[in-house]
Amino acid sequence: MRFDILTIFPGMFESFMRETLIAKAIKKKRMAIYVHNIRRATNDKHHTVDDRPYGGGPGMILKVDPILKTLRMLPKKKKRRIILLSPQGTQFSQKVARRLAGYEQIILISGRYEGFDHRVTKYVDEELSIGPYVMSGGEIPAMVVVETVSRLIPGVIGHPEATRDETYSGSPDYVEYPQYTRPPVYRRQSVPKVLLSGNHKEIRAWRQFHSRRRKSGSRAA
Ligand code: SAM
Repeated sequence: MRFDILTIFPGMFESFMRETLIAKAIKKKRMAIYVHNIRRATNDKHHTVDDRPYGGGPGMILKVDPILKTLRMLPKKKKRRIILLSPQGTQFSQKVARRLAGYEQIILISGRYEGFDHRVTKYVDEELSIGPYVMSGGEIPAMVVVETVSRLIPGVIGHPEATRDETYSGSPDYVEYPQYTRPPVYRRQSVPKVLLSGNHKEIRAWRQFHSRRRKSGSRAA
């Protein structure tokens, strides 16, 4: 899987790509991330990527041309998806992540300021929002998408079964069972006895029971 990220703040991705599972997956060649500074696709002295909105109003708008020029410079894999990160987009979810994991190339366009010239939407396949709130930029939303999708790429997670029983894995209201590690008692809170029993059948049953979510949103008691 290849991710291409368009941004005006490429430095924000440096530690993201250098650390954690992402760095390991890149090293193992399970995925690749290329970060593109859209300022590079400008010709003027100040590398201008934004301008005032027609009709007036606060803030600046990202221009179409540097984004389109950057898109056109990218290598093109057969199965690719161009995504505009926007609070107005479809809500990102585990289901959307599973769908995106089937592509060979995902291009994520991060906005800043007051967002994009609306004509950018003509050149993308979909608009995605990471949640019903407004952030100052699309860089963190891009990282959210990369991290969530990359967990689903074969070979990225050391134990592939870890993603099988995870929260949201089966359905949008599935919640994983509670997990514990040593010590067995911490400040008078004990680990449920069954988890220390070594009886795998009972442990499976306990986990199954405690992984169901009630309609109210709380766990089974
Ligand atoms: N004026 C825009 C609006 O009202 O829809 C908001 C622009 S926001 C300040 C700047 C950029 O941050 C957006 O263009 C988008 O790329 C990114 N962004 C902000 N919130 C986001 C969200 N919830 N999901 C995805 N991207 C988001």
